[in-house]
Amino acid sequence: MQHPDPMPGVIARGASTMRAMVLKAVRAPLELELRTIPTPGPGDLRLRVLACAVCRTDLHIVDGELPLPTLPIVPGHEIVGVVEEAGSDATGFAVGDRVGVPWLGHTCNACEFCLAGHENLCDAPRFTGYHRDGGFASHVIAEAAFCLPLPMLDADAAHVAPLLCAGLIGWRSLNAAGAGAQRLGLYGFGAAAHLVTQAAAAQGRQVFAFTRPGDRATQDFARCLGAAWAGGSDELPPVALDAAILFAPVGDLVPAALRAVRKGGRVVCGGIHMSEIPAFPYRLLWEERSLSSVANLTRTDARDFLAFAQAHPPQVHAVTYPLEQANQALADLRTGRIQGAAVLLP
Ligand SMILES: [Zn+2]
Ligand SMILES: [Zn+2]
Repeated sequence: MQHPDPMPGVIARGASTMRAMVLKAVRAPLELELRTIPTPGPGDLRLRVLACAVCRTDLHIVDGELPLPTLPIVPGHEIVGVVEEAGSDATGFAVGDRVGVPWLGHTCNACEFCLAGHENLCDAPRFTGYHRDGGFASHVIAEAAFCLPLPMLDADAAHVAPLLCAGLIGWRSLNAAGAGAQRLGLYGFGAAAHLVTQAAAAQGRQVFAFTRPGDRATQDFARCLGAAWAGGSDELPPVALDAAILFAPVGDLVPAALRAVRKGGRVVCGGIHMSEIPAFPYRLLWEERSLSSVANLTRTDARDFLAFAQAHPPQVHAVTYPLEQANQALADLRTGRIQGAAVLLP
């Protein structure tokens, strides 16, 4: 459906135009816009988007739960695309290559965090679909140095796109849980958990999946993907956990997860936003339990995870929508109706 009342500067559809689903105001539906296909800057690539997965962070952006640095903005940071044109200084990719574009779109390479190898914590980052236009579009511009080669040539783009945030952030969270975390709890069984379950199982860990109470269908889904146990987030697991990762943006789950981990156990918050964490008694943290968060990703995380996924290809459950139905995909994610990952196809 075309936007009924084009904004000034919006042009008629043609060979030199692209389509984008644009957020113009928070808590408003994205609007389809036709734009002139942009020319890449010196270090950039222009990609024709093949698929872009929908992340909970996109929902936080659209719902105004994160401060928005740029409006209007095209969301989407789990992009699989084909290089159409490379800028004069863009290296590493050729026209026709299939590449991935993740959330981390640019770092300063000069702050103390960048210099220490923690580029995920950069003081002046630019995130895809947040500071710069993302992949809810037919075309996107991305900095070549932050694009990822995609070795999984067998899988189609819709089944690769969810790896680029659900997979990458899930992988960083899994590493943050610790290599020794054999009995691993996952709270919130969406796109990230469905991939982490498979990666953790491939590493020989036992996964305990916690869903919304009474959500039997998602609990069955978790067991199908290799979870040793699945139950409601109001339940305690049958054994004490070594670590737990929270993917659901629900602060109430923090004390619940602390209650489920053993002495010395770790609870990792994997999301960018969470509702208020309620007060809880110190004894839940006592005995050297720890609580931490995971922020963004590094390019090393991306390379490591994509190599792991190449060696242990996950079953990616993708629920696809035409680009123009981005609002429906967001609505379905908001109500928890999607099993696996939502993916937009332009
Ligand atoms: Zn994301
Ligand atoms: Zn930096």
